[in-house]
Amino acid sequence: MAAEFDILIIGSGPGGYVTAIRSAQLGLKTAIVERDALGGVCLNWGCIPTKALLKSGEVYETLDHLADYGLSVEKRGFDFAKVVERSRKVASQLNAGVGYLMKKHKIEVIEGSARLEKGEGAPKAVIALKKGGSRSVQAKHVILATGARARTIPAIGLEPDGDRVWTYREAMVPKAAPKSLIVIGSGAIGIEFASFYRALGSEVTVVEALARILPVEDEEVSKAAHKAFEKRGLKFRVPANVKKLTKSKAGVSIEIEVGGQTETLQADVAIVAVGIVGNVEDLGLEALGAKVERTHVVTDAHGGTGVPGLYAIGDVAGPPWLAHKASHEGIHCVEHIAGLKPTNVTSPIPGCTYSNPQVASVGVTEAQAKEQGLAVKVGRFPFRVNGKAIASGETEGFVKTIFDARTGALIGAHMIGAEVTEMIQGFALAMTLEATEAELQATVFPHPTMSEAMHEASLDAFGKVLHI
Ligand code: NAD
Repeated sequence: MAAEFDILIIGSGPGGYVTAIRSAQLGLKTAIVERDALGGVCLNWGCIPTKALLKSGEVYETLDHLADYGLSVEKRGFDFAKVVERSRKVASQLNAGVGYLMKKHKIEVIEGSARLEKGEGAPKAVIALKKGGSRSVQAKHVILATGARARTIPAIGLEPDGDRVWTYREAMVPKAAPKSLIVIGSGAIGIEFASFYRALGSEVTVVEALARILPVEDEEVSKAAHKAFEKRGLKFRVPANVKKLTKSKAGVSIEIEVGGQTETLQADVAIVAVGIVGNVEDLGLEALGAKVERTHVVTDAHGGTGVPGLYAIGDVAGPPWLAHKASHEGIHCVEHIAGLKPTNVTSPIPGCTYSNPQVASVGVTEAQAKEQGLAVKVGRFPFRVNGKAIASGETEGFVKTIFDARTGALIGAHMIGAEVTEMIQGFALAMTLEATEAELQATVFPHPTMSEAMHEASLDAFGKVLHI
């Protein structure tokens, strides 16, 4: 069977569809298989629609502080169905956008569910088509970009039922905002939904098993986030082990162990946000001999699985489970297949949580730098003395920088505050260009901007801070 395509991509999330575009740009005949909606979880059920919900929440919360700006409003209120409807519209606009991009780049979209079998040179895909029937596709290379889904723990009741127990998917489209809510897990998903529902007035308690919330973040940021969220009325049980979730007509009851004591929490609804698992099932991977560890496909530096012609990128290839990491890996993988020498091998991957306040980081935390035995220089700068932050009434939070004391290289940056998710890219770029304190200090930051705090935090690490 002659190969019908150069590249067949399975899964059209930000990993798959971006890889398809790059593949087409490289002149490769490309097809993409999708069983659900173009754009995957990110565009349809994750990154994008949550940002729409969070924006509604943020605007609504701002109304609480109108008097600070010399403004007033007669009566604030919201229509929850319309909040959700807006978020769905945003998702469908972007979904249509991906469809347009596929057409523009002459990428064939095959609607269906693919399973791999032994083929010629690369695995062959047998696709159960959405419209019925099946189609066999032989390509020269297959790139798996099947993504991931919410981890559930049915043994202790942490399993969605679409009514009282939600994952991110149900939490995105309920009929009404719950009066009370327990969020299990304080990673990005848990904290973003906690932040959104709190903004609309829900009583929210977050339960986290590890010692602190947002545990992948720098400890100082985690602490500041905890304090800021508590100020907004969020409640936390940290560290707390969930023993059992029980459902009743009235809601959920969750037994937790905290500080050696058993406690029972009750609420209308629970959101399970305890991590994600890769979509590795029903792909035929075992028969092909691809190695699956935990729930991800094991890959080499270019996405190769060890099975000739089979690659994996994004969530299904393991952490960090981030959309931008998936796109980045996909571009790298297809450029490698095309015989180019990808240059983006070691670029640092920023992480963002779009709560109120926002959290963003790139590179190592201070603790990680110390674990690696590095001598560090650490700088900090609070937004409370930044002119733009004061003028905007958004003085919460700070910027923290971590430099390698020996080389002067920036190795980590951590921020909490308004719009820090938009600013972290400055530090990501600096790290990609292997900037040292010299370049950061020489960079001109526009005044007045919140980004000046990034400059000041860099200066602070070397005893040159100006505005404190
Ligand atoms: P996560 O792994 O980031 O966080 C899950 C949290 O749940 C952890 O802190 C863990 O300690 C805790 N936990 C696990 N089991 C528990 C239990 N039984 N009881 C209490 N706590 C428990 O996972 P997530 O928040 O579900 O997100 C999944 C992935 O998606 C992450 O990698 C995340 O970074 C990514 N994501 C990113 C964004 C973003 O960039 N804004 C948004 C959503 C998701």
